[in-house]
Amino acid sequence: MIESALSGLRAVVRENVPLSGRTTLRIGGPARYFVEAHDAEALAALLRAGRAAGLPVLALGKGSNLLVPDAGFPGVVFTLAGDFLATRIEAPEVVAGGGVSLMSLAVAAQGAGLSGLENLSGIPSSLGGAVRINAGSYGSELFDILVAADLVSGAGERRTAPASGIPHGYRWTALCDADDIVIGARLRLAPKPPAEIASWMAEVTAKRKNALPKQPNAGSIFKNPPGLFAGKLLEECGLKGRRVGGAEISPVHANVIVNVGGATASDVKSLMEEMKNAVRIRFGVELTAEIRLLG
Ligand SMILES: Cc1cc2nc3c(=O)[nH]c(=O)nc-3n(C[C@H](O)[C@H](O)[C@H](O)COP(=O)(O)OP(=O)(O)OC[C@H]3O[C@@H](n4cnc5c(N)ncnc54)[C@H](O)[C@@H]3O)c2cc1C
Repeated sequence: MIESALSGLRAVVRENVPLSGRTTLRIGGPARYFVEAHDAEALAALLRAGRAAGLPVLALGKGSNLLVPDAGFPGVVFTLAGDFLATRIEAPEVVAGGGVSLMSLAVAAQGAGLSGLENLSGIPSSLGGAVRINAGSYGSELFDILVAADLVSGAGERRTAPASGIPHGYRWTALCDADDIVIGARLRLAPKPPAEIASWMAEVTAKRKNALPKQPNAGSIFKNPPGLFAGKLLEECGLKGRRVGGAEISPVHANVIVNVGGATASDVKSLMEEMKNAVRIRFGVELTAEIRLLG
């Protein structure tokens, strides 16, 4: 029924597509339907069809902040393709689709001599996923440069929301609690010589390379509690290197779980429980997940 709703529209529908290869943790069973939506009309039709069929619908960006159950996802998973991969420079602003990666956006901005994305450039995120969670790094956040986001609601209605109209904070925006899909965004950058931007980006890339493990992971598992660092609390609990099945608390960074081979979603969840419990018992601090746990 998803196929018939999208017939004649710019979308590709497949069934039972494994999600493990589409998440950075390399974990997750199949999506019942997997759709590439190529324009806003197809996306709106898809969201309406999913809703009418009573199926859960999930936007998949770069899969860098997701834990997908081993049993998979019993509804529709879609990615933003086609029109949603376009970038337009309107100096000093940049307008891009929700499916564009932050790195390719940063490279385009650098080429145009526009600064503001350097600190965010190494986050392995789509623009849509980054707007949703207000992704941030090295003191910069997406909302520092966001002018407006283009959204499609779960009912398939399109609107543009100014950044000031979207409540947001540390690794959270009101979009996390809504069913809106971020199909694009307008960012305001600042002119700077391309060579200076390039050397700043290279510095950030090198710093990130040293700070993060090389095995598959989803970045920080827990948010930093106010005024504290989750990684430091977890390290002080002696949890680095702790393993459950194929999931390990990275010896490089205690707030990162890596898949050392064959990890399941249940392995990761068990480790997360241990991490939360250890920090609660030792410090009386309640950690909250930064990654999105499905199911
Ligand atoms: C190695 C590594 C390093 C990382 N470093 C950082 C960091 O420094 N700072 C940081 O903030 N994060 C970091 N992360 C986490 C992650 O990259 C961000 O949270 C990112 O913004 C997630 O975007 P995504 O496109 O991968 O979303 P996904 O993981 O695909 O999805 C995450 C959630 O966003 C939703 N979503 C995705 N696209 C859209 C859309 N277009 N509209 C609405 N909802 C959408 C999904 O439905 C899901 O609920 C890191 C992750 C990894 C693996």
